[in-house]
Amino acid sequence: MKTKVAYLRGLMDGLKLADDDNTRVLKAIADCLEAMADEIETESARTDAIEAELDEINEDIDDLDEVLGFLLEEEEDEDDEENWTGEDWEDDFDFFTCPSCGKVVPLDEETIQEQPNPLCPECGEPLFGE
Ligand SMILES: [Zn+2]
Repeated sequence: MKTKVAYLRGLMDGLKLADDDNTRVLKAIADCLEAMADEIETESARTDAIEAELDEINEDIDDLDEVLGFLLEEEEDEDDEENWTGEDWEDDFDFFTCPSCGKVVPLDEETIQEQPNPLCPECGEPLFGE
């Protein structure tokens, strides 16, 4: 962009344009282009800085992802220890298969906390056994 504007300036200087309204308009346009080129250069420098920052943030996110994955694995291990039957989960829901009738029952975390041993809505048997 800058070299092109410089080229345009050189072209105008070299053409020995008459000092009329047309020339003034052309010079105004060249001034405008130069200002734009300056701004774009500043802007792209800023964009580079932002991109560098984004890279760092992405690395942080990767780290967090790893930590999160580790924590989730730990949580699943705990689930196994408590003999919870559901391994699949979506969003806030855990899915449990009723040991009595085999129906898959979705429970959110709140329900699990409020009722440590919820009953199957289908057959009324405790979901996690006695
Ligand atoms: Zn049941």
